[in-house]
Amino acid sequence: MGRCADYKSAPPLSAARGHIAESAQGEKAGHWPAAGRRCMMACMNGHPELQTIKSWIDAARRVTVLTGAGISTDSGIPDFRGTQGVWTLNPKAEKMSDIRHYVSDPEVRRLSWQSRLAHPAWTAAPNAGHHALAELERRGKLHALVTQNIDGLHQRAGVSANKVIEVHGTLHRVICLGCGWRGPMQDTLDRVRAGEEDPQCLACSGLLKSDTISFGQPLVPEVIDRAMRVASECEVFIAIGSTLQVYPVAGAVPLALQAGARVVIINAQPTQFDGVADALVRLPIGEVLPDLFGAGR
Ligand SMILES: [Zn+2]
Repeated sequence: MGRCADYKSAPPLSAARGHIAESAQGEKAGHWPAAGRRCMMACMNGHPELQTIKSWIDAARRVTVLTGAGISTDSGIPDFRGTQGVWTLNPKAEKMSDIRHYVSDPEVRRLSWQSRLAHPAWTAAPNAGHHALAELERRGKLHALVTQNIDGLHQRAGVSANKVIEVHGTLHRVICLGCGWRGPMQDTLDRVRAGEEDPQCLACSGLLKSDTISFGQPLVPEVIDRAMRVASECEVFIAIGSTLQVYPVAGAVPLALQAGARVVIINAQPTQFDGVADALVRLPIGEVLPDLFGAGR
């Protein structure tokens, strides 16, 4: 397909096939030699690279998946760091993402509530990538789904809530920074629509905020512990649409490798772990996941 030509660093297909043939003699059956890993720039439609990843999934009992912003951009939810990213286009948005500005500046809170009202998550629908992960669960393969996303689209696509580990929290809930009360986001957004520009907790008058992790806020240790545990409990670990720059979540990748899992990275841009991954896929997520996970389109 023409799109393969977009990936200029990918070797010619014949070279990739050569590596696949070589790998049969690898000491860990089917495990790629370091030089061969770079050749797993998979192409669509029956090319052997994707078939190989599919065979790993078919053979696995437990697949752990990590998703980042890249899986939701097809649903109209912009990422933060890309050229069209929220922070690139609107530096004020970065300020709204910092807890120190949020608690000290009422104007930042007012803007934040307006931004939540207008958030694309309320109208976004899960895309083919999200549905493919739900299919992976239906096949009994999905051990856990660690996500850096706050949009709730995995659950909307039908992935069981107890499989989803939201390391950065969720936009669908509100938390009181004073007493820790939590409630549905839409109830508080109704108050904003009714004219409260900076709604406060009805129990303690504390500041309300989306139940997400802002800059300057600690992650929830139990959530991170669970994310690391599921990374070390799988036979195949697949990172999808994440730049793998944010720790401690990115640490799930070396942890999975250490535990002996095959690691697949599906992302448009290179990541720091490309050199150690068993397979790299640079194809559009919404096209490749249905193919890999067996969901019909
Ligand atoms: Zn409160």
